[in-house]
Amino acid sequence: MIDFLGNLERTHYCGELRAANAGQEVVLMGWVNRRRDHGSLIFLDLRDRTGISQIVLDKDLIPDGHAKGEQIRPEYVVAAVGKVRLRAADSINPKMDTGEIEIAATELLVLNDSALAPFSPSEDAIQNEEVRLKYRYVDLRRPEMQHNFRLRHDIMLAIRENLSKQGFLEIETPILTKSTPEGARDFLVPSRVHPGEFYALPQSPQIFKQILMISGFDKYFQIARCFRDEDLRADRQLEFTQIDLEMSFPHQETVFGVAEQFMVAAFAAAGVTLPAPFPRITYDESIRQYGCDKPDMRLPGLVDVRPAFTDENLDALKIDKALPVVALRIPNVGELSRKEREDNHPLFELKKGAKFIDDFKRLAKGFPEAAVKVRELAAAAEGDFVIIVAGDPDHPVKASDTKFPGRLSEREISVYTAAGNFRTELAKKYADKHGAFATTDEAVKEAAAPAPQGGGKLPVSAKGAFEPIWITDFPMFEYDSAIAKWMPAHHPFTAPHEDDMANLLTDPASVRANCYDLAMNGLELGSGSIRIHRKDVQQQIFQSLGISDEEAHKRFGFFLDALEYGTPPHGGIALGLDRIVMLLAGAPSLREVIAFPKTAKAIDLMVDAPTTVTAEQLKELHIRVALKS
Ligand code: ASP
Repeated sequence: MIDFLGNLERTHYCGELRAANAGQEVVLMGWVNRRRDHGSLIFLDLRDRTGISQIVLDKDLIPDGHAKGEQIRPEYVVAAVGKVRLRAADSINPKMDTGEIEIAATELLVLNDSALAPFSPSEDAIQNEEVRLKYRYVDLRRPEMQHNFRLRHDIMLAIRENLSKQGFLEIETPILTKSTPEGARDFLVPSRVHPGEFYALPQSPQIFKQILMISGFDKYFQIARCFRDEDLRADRQLEFTQIDLEMSFPHQETVFGVAEQFMVAAFAAAGVTLPAPFPRITYDESIRQYGCDKPDMRLPGLVDVRPAFTDENLDALKIDKALPVVALRIPNVGELSRKEREDNHPLFELKKGAKFIDDFKRLAKGFPEAAVKVRELAAAAEGDFVIIVAGDPDHPVKASDTKFPGRLSEREISVYTAAGNFRTELAKKYADKHGAFATTDEAVKEAAAPAPQGGGKLPVSAKGAFEPIWITDFPMFEYDSAIAKWMPAHHPFTAPHEDDMANLLTDPASVRANCYDLAMNGLELGSGSIRIHRKDVQQQIFQSLGISDEEAHKRFGFFLDALEYGTPPHGGIALGLDRIVMLLAGAPSLREVIAFPKTAKAIDLMVDAPTTVTAEQLKELHIRVALKS
C-alpha cells in the first residue's frame, strides 16, 4: 500500500496555511500526528517542522484516499493534495495557527508506514528520558525540540554574522591533535601508523588560536567542538561547542566589547534585548557578594552584617569573630515552621567550617538589637526569609591557615561559599515564592511565541530574566596545602596582570591573572584571558607551575618555539554555545539543545556507543585490552 512520490512537489509547509490561503490548491507532506475516524470523514493532523494542518478525507470525494486513511496510523508519512477551505465556524480551533482552515484532500499518497513508536511526538511530557534518547529521531520530531534546534541555528547564524562583521575570520583547527591543558582528562586516539602513539582530541583550540595570532590572522573565531573526559552533569557533556575567538593587540575591555556585541546579536536572534555593556565585578567582590564566581544576579546578594553584632554577641553565639558574618535573603518566603527550617538544613554544607542561624525569632529574643539591625542591613521586607552565615570556631576547615595579605583566606572563602551555596539551593527550593526564576521562564515563553498575525513582534527585555556579569581579577595561583605548592588557577597561557608581574616568583599569592569569566543566571558561560606573548614569561610561568624545562619542551616545545617568531600581544575568550542556547530555550539540561547527546553515564543510547571493537581493529592499532575480571 506504499505509494511512490513520483513527480509530486510540495507547495507549502503544514504550519504556513491561513484563512488567506482558502481556495488554493496545495500539496503538503509530513507525518500523521493524529488520526480521527468519523465514519465517512477521516481527519488527519499532518505535521512537519513548521506545525500542523488538518486534512479531511471524505469518502464521497476520494473513496480510495479514504480507504487508505482507514489503514493509516500515527507517524505514517503521507502527501496530501487538496484545496484549502475555511472551517465551519463551530470547528475553528483558536489554539492552532492553522485552526481556521483545513485541506479537503483530492489525492492521498502514503509514502511510508511507521512502526508503533514507544511514544508519540504529539505528547507533551515524556517522562522516561532514556526512551527519548534511544528513539531520538522520534523525540526530535516533537515541536519543542524542533523549536530548540531552530533557535540554536538562529543563534549560531547571528553569532557568525556578527563576528564576521566585527572582522573575525572563521578558521578550523584540528580535531586529531596533542593534549591542550584545560584541566580535564584527554580523549586519546591511537595512531595506526605510529605504533604506541596517540593523538588527543582538543579540550579547546587554545594553542592553535594563539598560533593563528602569531600567524598574523589578527582576529580568529570558530564555533568549535571541544572534548573533555569529565563526569557529566546537566550542564556538562563530553563534547560541547564553544564560540571560540582570539584577537591581536587587545585589552581586556576590547575582548569584552567583542563578546558583548555577539551576545547581544545572539539574544536578539532569540527575540530578547540584552543591554550592554554588562556589569563587571572582581573575583573578590563576587565571592563577598554572592559566595561564588558565577553569581545569579536575579536574587539579592549576600550582605555583611558583622556591624550588627558586638563582640560579646558573637562570643555568646559561638561565632568566629575573625571571619565574615553575612546574611542572605530570599524574598517572599514568609515565616517558616521549625520543621520546614529543619528540612532545609541538609542543603547547608557543614563541612565548609561555617554555621548558620535561621531561627530569627530566637535570635530576636536573645539579641533584639542585633536582629533588627541585621534585617535593616539586609533590606529585608516583612515576608523575606533571612539567614545568617558565619564561621564556626568548632569546625575549622583543614586549609584554615593559609592567609596571604591582600587576598581572601581559604576560611573566609569557605564562609562566603557556604552562604552562597545555601542561597542558591534555597532559591531553587522557594522559586515559587520569590518568583525571580519565573521572570526568566516568562521571558523565554514570550520570546518564543509567534508574532501575531500580520504584525511584527517587539523583542522581550532581558531585564531581570537574563543577567550577564563579567568576573575579573581572578587570582593567578591557588595554594594547594596538601602539597604546599602554588598551582595555576587557569590554563598556563594566561598572562598575569602587568602590575603584578614582578611578584611572580617572590609573592605568587598577590598575583592577579589577566583573565575573566562571563556568567549569567548562576551559570558560567565561559572564560578567556589576555595571553602570555613572551617566551621568557611563558617559561617563567611553566617554571612557577612546577613544569620542568624538559616537560615544557616535550608538551609545548612547538608553542615555545612559535613564541620566538614575533608573537603579538593577544587575548580572547570562549563561550559555551550549548549553555547559551539552553538558557534561551528555557531548557533544564544541555541534552535538550544537543541533537545527539550522551547520558549522565556517558552513553549514546541511540547509536549504542561506546562499544567494544573487533580483534582485528585492535591489532591494527597495536592495542591489547586488559580488563579486570
Ligand atoms: N580555552 C579556554 C577555555 O576553553 C578559553 C580561553 O581562554 O579563550 O576555557
